[in-house]
Amino acid sequence: MDLPGYYEYHCSVKVIAGHDALEKIPGILQDLHACRPMIVTDKGVAGAGLVDIVLGAVKDQLVIGAVADDVPPDSDLRVVNRLAALYREKGCDALIAVGGGSVMDTAKGINIVVSEGADDLMKFSGAGALKRPLKPLVAIPTTAGTGSEVTLVAVVKDHERHLKMAFVSYFLLPDVSILDSRMTLSLPAAITAATGMDAMTHAVEAYYGLSKNPLSDATALAAIRLISGNLVKATRNPSDREARLAMANAAALAGMAFSNSMVGMVHTLGHATGSVCGVPHGVCMAILLPYGLEYNRHKREAIMGELFFPMGGSDVFARTPKEQRTDRVIAYVRQMNQDLHDASGGRHARYFKEVSDREGKPAVPRERLPDIARTALGDGSIFYNPEELDYDDFLMVLEAAWEGVALDSGRIRE
Ligand code: NAD
Repeated sequence: MDLPGYYEYHCSVKVIAGHDALEKIPGILQDLHACRPMIVTDKGVAGAGLVDIVLGAVKDQLVIGAVADDVPPDSDLRVVNRLAALYREKGCDALIAVGGGSVMDTAKGINIVVSEGADDLMKFSGAGALKRPLKPLVAIPTTAGTGSEVTLVAVVKDHERHLKMAFVSYFLLPDVSILDSRMTLSLPAAITAATGMDAMTHAVEAYYGLSKNPLSDATALAAIRLISGNLVKATRNPSDREARLAMANAAALAGMAFSNSMVGMVHTLGHATGSVCGVPHGVCMAILLPYGLEYNRHKREAIMGELFFPMGGSDVFARTPKEQRTDRVIAYVRQMNQDLHDASGGRHARYFKEVSDREGKPAVPRERLPDIARTALGDGSIFYNPEELDYDDFLMVLEAAWEGVALDSGRIRE
């Protein structure tokens, strides 16, 4: 293995995982010297009864200062500022995020505003804006995808400017992350599938990206093995508690990997598609991941081939000649999307022309692809991608991903 000449790896989050992990919350808050937390969640999560499960687990051992359940998809700058004001008004001293990436990132945003004694999250955009530890934050993920429960990132959308902004700081790492299988049993099949492919993308892009290092490699490989064995299972049988817990672990492992190795063009284009067309993040990741592999393979052939070990298992890996392994990895990811499509009754989209909005209209009209390509030019994740991309490259990838055809290798940069 080629070791990088220098790297840093940081994950200070205490992870508590198990089928009954929520019961630890009162002790956790005591350790963090907090006694009046605000619960941040969204309507879908609260409606699925998950906040009640959390409250049931803490029984009367905790005073809850406030419950805010109006986080929108992809979070929102104004909502963050409003909920920060609510936190202060109710005299809270800690945050418990119960939800997917949108909720966890909102809680991180609120934490910046309340800890800094400010009124607007925008004042803290840009590197190095945070200088000191924030209030205690406990993350309880209810999707198994983003890994936000262990990452130093908060993605918050400015809905007015159609922009997704990333806030990055070690101070954004939650103090504790609780992975409890009860939190994902209610996750619908299509969201299970797409968010699981988000975790897969974190692990795969971290592993072949320019900032890979041995510690993030280890977590990425462990994540890919768990996802390969459990994502289709959990999508097909939502009440499989073992598969749910395995996926919760996988998402956290993949989060640790990418939080330290960053991601690449799949995220660049995914962020842009999410911003321009409002497509959920995991859906973009699932569709674009095969193209990230195809576009970069000439730079990372041997490294990508190693991914066939956690995907196919040791026996099949050993039987597959080295020069065929990357082909098998790409085929594996495409087949996984197909299996998830079947397991979700056709609701998991395999290409962009298949994605529809709430009214059933195409969510990614072909004529918007140039807008997406232009937006992608401004996304920082591209710096960690092995091969360069300009506007024409982005457009070429988007067109293939829209149609669902393999990339024309003759048109990829050398
Ligand atoms: P999400 O949080 O937007 O949730 C998707 C939907 O699923 C919501 O309607 C929610 O109500 C519902 N839901 C969630 N859990 C449920 C459950 N257990 N049962 C029933 N319904 C449930 O989706 P997400 O994919 O987890 O998060 C996406 C966001 O995370 C995006 O904004 C993305 O940019 C961001 N993100 C952040 C990071 C990070 O490191 N901070 C990494 C990747 C993505």
